[in-house]
Amino acid sequence: MAHRNVELLAVGAGPANLALAVAVEELAPELAGETLLIEREQDIVWQRGMLLPDALSQVSFLKDLVTMRNPCSRFSFVNFLHAQERLDAFVNLASWVPYRSEISDYLQWVADELAQVRVEYGRECAGVEAVTGADGEITGWVVTLANGDTIGCRYLVIGAGRDAHVPAVFEGLPAERVIHSTQYTQRIAQVRADLPHRVAVVGGAQSAAELFGAALRDLPECKPTMIMRSIGLNGYESSKFTNELYYSSFIDEFYEASPDARKQLLDEMYRSNYGGLSPATLDALYRQFYQDRRTGQDRLAMHAMTDVSAARMDGEEIVLTLTDRKSGAEREMRTDLVLLGTGFVRSMPWAVKALAESIGLERVDVSRNYRLDLGRPASAACYLQGVNEATHGIADSLLSVLAGRSAEITQDILAHRLGLQVTVPDQERELAFA
Ligand SMILES: Cc1cc2nc3c(=O)[nH]c(=O)nc-3n(C[C@H](O)[C@H](O)[C@H](O)COP(=O)(O)OP(=O)(O)OC[C@H]3O[C@@H](n4cnc5c(N)ncnc54)[C@H](O)[C@@H]3O)c2cc1C
Repeated sequence: MAHRNVELLAVGAGPANLALAVAVEELAPELAGETLLIEREQDIVWQRGMLLPDALSQVSFLKDLVTMRNPCSRFSFVNFLHAQERLDAFVNLASWVPYRSEISDYLQWVADELAQVRVEYGRECAGVEAVTGADGEITGWVVTLANGDTIGCRYLVIGAGRDAHVPAVFEGLPAERVIHSTQYTQRIAQVRADLPHRVAVVGGAQSAAELFGAALRDLPECKPTMIMRSIGLNGYESSKFTNELYYSSFIDEFYEASPDARKQLLDEMYRSNYGGLSPATLDALYRQFYQDRRTGQDRLAMHAMTDVSAARMDGEEIVLTLTDRKSGAEREMRTDLVLLGTGFVRSMPWAVKALAESIGLERVDVSRNYRLDLGRPASAACYLQGVNEATHGIADSLLSVLAGRSAEITQDILAHRLGLQVTVPDQERELAFA
C-alpha cells in the first residue's frame, strides 16, 4: 500500500472541484502545484447516468466554471467552443443552453487544460479520517482509496456529489431489476431491447420524465408506466425575478436569513428547479401520451397520487403494491424493470458522515466559506461542496454558483495558511512573509 502527501486534496472531479482547480490555478499559483483532484471514474462525464443524447443543460452557458468570476479566463465555455472550432455554430444556434453532453465535454477539456493542478482518474475515495496531534488538534486528513493506497493532506475538499436515493421499499428486489437514474446510461445497454418489457418509472420530476422518454427510445418494445406521489407532472415555476435568487450574490442573504425565512425560500425555490419539468420535456411527453391514446395503442400509462407501498418478486415478475393516496385502496402491478427517478438523499453524503463520525462531530456545520466547523483546534481544514443547500440556498448544488464559490474556498484556504504562518515563532515569522 502506497502513501503520499499533498497540500490540497479534492475528492471528485465533477464541476465543483474542477471549478476549484481553475480558481486555484488562477488565484493561488503557489498552491496549484501541490493540489490533486481524484476521480473514481476513468474520465470526466457530467451526470454520467443521465447523459442522454438530446438532454439540455438548464442554465446559461455563461454560468460555466469561471466566467461569472473571471470573464477573461482561458477556461471559459466560450474558449472551449473556440478551441473546438464550434464558436460560429454555437452562436448561430442562438441558444443559452448547451447540450448536457457538450457541458460534459467542456468539463473534460478543462481538466485536460489544467497546467499545474493534477487530476488522477480511477482513484476512488473509500474512507476519510482525521490526523490528530497528541493534544487532539486536527493536523491533517488521510483519504484511503479503494485499492488501499492512502493520500495525506492538510486541506481536503469533498465534492463527490450526493448519494442516490433508493426508497427502502425497493431494497429487497434483485439489483439487476432496479436502475436508479444515476446508473441509467451505464446499465440500460445490458437490458435486452427486443423484449416487450413492462417498465415502472417511479418519480414525478425531471429525472423520472427523462427516464420515461429514454426507456421508450432504448427499449422500443417496452410498456412504461409512470408512478408518482404528486397530483401530476408540473412545469417548474420560475421567472426572471425568482431567478435572481440563483445569483452568487444572493448566498449572503440566504446565509444570514432566519430559519423560517430559509425554509420559505427553499420551499418556494424548490418549485423553480427540482420540483418541476422543463417546458420542452413536459410538452414532448404530453404529445407522446396524446398520440398513444389517439392511435389506441394504450402503451403508456401514468398513475398520479400513488405510493409504491411494497415490492416483491413472484418468480420472474416484480410485483409492486400501489396505494392510491386519495382512497387508500391498494392494488398490484406486475412489471419487469423498475427505473427510479427518485433523486438524491438530502442528508450529508456518506464520506462527510464518515469524516464527522471519525472526529466525534454531532452535526455538520460549515462557515459562509464552506469550511467545516471542526469543533476543536485545527491546523488543517475541510471544505464541503454542493451539499450546503440548507445554509447556502438552493443554488448550492447547481453550476450557477461554482465560479464564485471556488474563489471563496481558495481565498479561505490562503487565509488559513497565512494564519498558520503568523502563529509560528517570531524568527520564522519573518521568513513566512519574506
Ligand atoms: C440529471 C441531472 C441534470 C442536472 N442538470 C443541471 C443543469 O442543467 N444545471 C445545473 O446547474 N445543475 C444541474 N444538475 C445539478 C448538478 O448537481 C450540478 O450541475 C453538478 O453536477 C454538481 O457538481 P458536483 O461536482 O458537486 O457533483 P457531481 O457532478 O456529482 O460530481 C461528483 C464527481 O465526484 C466523483 N466521485 C463520487 N464519489 C467519488 C469517490 N468516492 N471517489 C472519487 N470520486 C468520486 C463522481 O464520479 C463525479 O465525477 C443536474 C443534476 C442531475 C442529476
